[in-house]
Amino acid sequence: MMNPRVRIAPSPTGFLHLGTARAALFNYLFAKKNNGAFIVRIEDTDLERSNPAFTKDILDGMRWLGLAWDEGPEGGGEYGPYEQSKRTDSYRKPIQKLITSGHLYECFCTPDELESERIEAAKHKQAPKYSGHCRNLSEPERQKFREQGRMSILRFRTPEKTVRFRDMVRGELSFDTSLIGDFSVARNVETPLYNLAVVIDDETMNITHVIRGEDHISNTPKQLLLIEALRYRVPEYAHLPLILNSDRSKMSKRKNKVSLIEYRNEGYLPEALVNFMALLGWNPKSEQEIFSLDELVQKFDLASVNKAGAVLNLEKLNWMNGEYVKTKSLDELIEIAAPFLPKDLPKERARKVVEVQRPRVNVLKEFSSEAEYFVSVEDFPAERLLWKTMTPEQGRAALAAAKDVCEKAEQEYESPHAMEAYLKDVIQKRGLKPGEFLWPLRVALSGRERSHSPFEIAYVIGKNETVKRIDRALASLK
Ligand code: GLU
Repeated sequence: MMNPRVRIAPSPTGFLHLGTARAALFNYLFAKKNNGAFIVRIEDTDLERSNPAFTKDILDGMRWLGLAWDEGPEGGGEYGPYEQSKRTDSYRKPIQKLITSGHLYECFCTPDELESERIEAAKHKQAPKYSGHCRNLSEPERQKFREQGRMSILRFRTPEKTVRFRDMVRGELSFDTSLIGDFSVARNVETPLYNLAVVIDDETMNITHVIRGEDHISNTPKQLLLIEALRYRVPEYAHLPLILNSDRSKMSKRKNKVSLIEYRNEGYLPEALVNFMALLGWNPKSEQEIFSLDELVQKFDLASVNKAGAVLNLEKLNWMNGEYVKTKSLDELIEIAAPFLPKDLPKERARKVVEVQRPRVNVLKEFSSEAEYFVSVEDFPAERLLWKTMTPEQGRAALAAAKDVCEKAEQEYESPHAMEAYLKDVIQKRGLKPGEFLWPLRVALSGRERSHSPFEIAYVIGKNETVKRIDRALASLK
């Protein structure tokens, strides 16, 4: 394959969602694997709905994932500008050409008129398509509408035929254009609407492959008609399967995260998300599940993309994230876990908190869920210190013994294992009941019915604080 040029073309009318991010990843992988170029084009022709804050979110999300683009906004390239709103000059000529060749005509129908047409069609169970009311207006009739001050748009005179194309994922596809009708393509001679803007931009940017979500498949025959009318080159198409929730419902703003950045804020790692998204539709044809970005570039192949919807399995994402968390060194993890730890945790203690929690953490936000007692213990009811049927006297005796041994210990605070071996030895030597000794100690250190083990907490908070907390618990049992 000669150096392909592929693009994603997000509209900045919303945040970067999983669908666009997955399309970006597949385009990126395809480009890198085939020595091609990956381009980002911002489709901001809808000025009312477009917002630069969304463009920023989209680009930030891509950067976070590590999907560097070869050409695009904030990156340059010889086919720019890469925002449609700045490309007006390149639209005028082709639109004029389509008018001259008779492919476009002015339509003066008002939104209300179009709406009643749609209602009428629905009554007769017909597909909603334009009736062709303005298709054959004479020049004097058009002039009359203009004088009435009616607004117009430009429609494409759709020929009745079958449009065929081979999709790299879905195989041979054909569409009967009589179901499409004359669709609108431009507001005026310099403002194309979505389908026409895509076609002109893809041609002028030399795009060779259009890899995008299946939700665009019904636009493809329209775009192919425009390409034919403009005598442009036909790109290859690959439509990626829809991403579905686990109940097979469509993704929505209500059910799913609206921006990819939310995953970052919860403590997902970009490499885990990239790995997870790669498997949303792509079949590696092996048991392997963990892939680095470089490995994906080597192995990715559009021919192995499934047609069936890709089901979102968030438990799998959590597991996968945990696998990537495990590959981090303690130092790396301390750095990336920092935003998830309580702000007032002293540095040395933070290090130990991460060390103790890391085997059980999948998603970084889990570092925060139990971390408060590593900082301090809030007041709690004294009865909580008592294991099963223990009396306050028995509780005090257990805590006094615990204080005694914890005070004497020195190097035991150097690791949770040393503390565990030491306390278990004491239990055995003194003939204590493990529950009656460890429960009050653990609650004294954590204040909670469920927490890390007393060995882990004592290790993290150190001797002084351990003894202080036991003293406080003892006092509360009076
Ligand atoms: N602008 C379209 C979107 O945001 C993408 C168009 C395309 O990939 O052709 O969905």
